[in-house]
Amino acid sequence: MADIIQLLPESIANQIAAGEVIQRPASVVKELLENALDAGAENIQLILKDSGKSLIQVIDDGQGMTDIDARMSFERHATSKITKADDLFHISTMGFRGEALASIASIGHVELKTKTAENEIGTQIKIHGSKLIKQSQCASPTGTSLSVKNLFYNVPARRKFLKSDPVELRHILEEFKRVALIHPNIGFKVYNDDNELYLLKPSNLRQRIVNVFGKKINEKLIPVQEETNDMTVQGFVGNMDAAKKTRSEQYFYVNQRFIKSGYLNHAIKRAYGELLSKDQHAFYVINLDIDPELIDINIHPTKHEIKFQEERLIYNFINVTVKHALGKYKITPMIDFDNTLLSNSSTNFNRHLESTTPSKSEVDAWSSMYQNLEGKSDQQSQQEIFLNSQVNQEVEGEKIMSNNYSSIQIGSSYILHPIKSGFALIDQRNAHERILYERFIEQLENKTASSQKLLFPLNFKYSAEKHLLVLNLKEKLNTLGFDIEDFGHQTIIIHGIPTGLEEASIENIIDGFLLAFQENLDFKLEINENLARSLAQNSAINRNQNLSLTEINSLIDQLFACDTPYISPSGKKCIVTFDSTDLQKLFES
Ligand code: ADP
Ligand code: MG
Repeated sequence: MADIIQLLPESIANQIAAGEVIQRPASVVKELLENALDAGAENIQLILKDSGKSLIQVIDDGQGMTDIDARMSFERHATSKITKADDLFHISTMGFRGEALASIASIGHVELKTKTAENEIGTQIKIHGSKLIKQSQCASPTGTSLSVKNLFYNVPARRKFLKSDPVELRHILEEFKRVALIHPNIGFKVYNDDNELYLLKPSNLRQRIVNVFGKKINEKLIPVQEETNDMTVQGFVGNMDAAKKTRSEQYFYVNQRFIKSGYLNHAIKRAYGELLSKDQHAFYVINLDIDPELIDINIHPTKHEIKFQEERLIYNFINVTVKHALGKYKITPMIDFDNTLLSNSSTNFNRHLESTTPSKSEVDAWSSMYQNLEGKSDQQSQQEIFLNSQVNQEVEGEKIMSNNYSSIQIGSSYILHPIKSGFALIDQRNAHERILYERFIEQLENKTASSQKLLFPLNFKYSAEKHLLVLNLKEKLNTLGFDIEDFGHQTIIIHGIPTGLEEASIENIIDGFLLAFQENLDFKLEINENLARSLAQNSAINRNQNLSLTEINSLIDQLFACDTPYISPSGKKCIVTFDSTDLQKLFES
């Protein structure tokens, strides 16, 4: 038989490598932003067309490249950041694998313009699918501009799997936020289709967080800062008011690199203890500075994961630090964002913390406690609940009906409702979510919502990203009873709200709704389904809320009028029934 093994051509090898590093436009954004950071840029612009599908361009004012380096930068394993194996253990740059540009150039139309400070004239390079089209001299400011057009033009399978523009844009902006939050000293601008989405001036971390998440977050931020010989933890955690129903606002960094670590995120969650309920997730932006020798970041192509030599020690350190921050914030004077010099205030705070550094025995005691406290995963218990309630639904069938006995509220959260065969226990929150969800779906389909006019219109200022989303959904929100007007300057005015919603909670409802809606985009929910579900989740009454008898009765009537009264749209039980024959057994043994 003839020899059949061949070396892959470089362009195919690059495409294969690209498959690991570049999953979607957001991956390109991440790599290009990281290169700009590594080049020492002070100002970085990100320019997108069609959510990155037609164009992704990053312009920086960093050190730039010589014409030889410019050509070299697209070779596989070409990097200026390491030269010997040992360097892998001292990495202080974001990149080091020398793969990104080679990969990107193999699956898109790339154009590079770059110039170093020493050179008068810059270099321009065009590469299409690993093929050099042109290299020439060009006029360029010092720094680098790299643009990628028609990503995946030669990988139809990848291109086909790209999601809708809003989903891809959300992924891009998420990568952007991960970078921008932890580099507050760098100025950033982001445009999509000529809309300015972010304009972030160089600032400190607190200001950067406020500029990204909006002014309201400021009063909810609690500073975190602690140091040992080889580590420093620094950043902000949110108080209970900043907690969200999703994990989307959790940013954990190691040496300013965003890291996904369930383990260390857990260390923070644990620190909140009882302060947060199971379905609430803390807000945080925290950086762990650690000697690069004590970690390994070369375990994953996108460098989102990391190995620590002393993982448990780090868990404890972070946990204790956050716990102390939370414990102290109540007696620490609030920092006024507008009127005080922020750096001064945080110095005071640090001094205050120094005297409360935990002793070793404290750390040990806490750490042994966590080992006993590991609970069931959320997913597991959700699934159980869902299965159980299906069983219930089948067994109980027609037996539950509204009747004339009076129902009572228990613990401000549940409703005890006598039925023929015994009694039903209704969870007021899940039940209300079900009722609202079915109402919203109906309104969206039949356009029947009623709106209540506000005497004093509300106005809210949003981030550019959220403002755009509200405008995109304006028609639909109208159908649901929101009377919304665009005021420009990222501000909307609300003249009317759906009948039945509390005016005072509209701001929170809309905030939560927008967040949930964006999360749901990933599940490819149909738009009405997504709207109804997200709005129901955020406008349903909560537990620990007293209801009048009229409210109780109306809730029960409406629940039993639903098509699917037993399960909330998020898959949780609304009703549990107790049979009197079972009750009898309880007393006979
Ligand atoms: P890595 O970042 O892992 O080194 P890349 O493929 O991302 O690999 O980049 C290859 C090289 O190109 C980098 O090591 C750097 O020297 C150079 N480079 C890339 N982007 C820039 C930039 N924006 N400014 C200056 N140099 C850059
Ligand atoms: Mg790189």
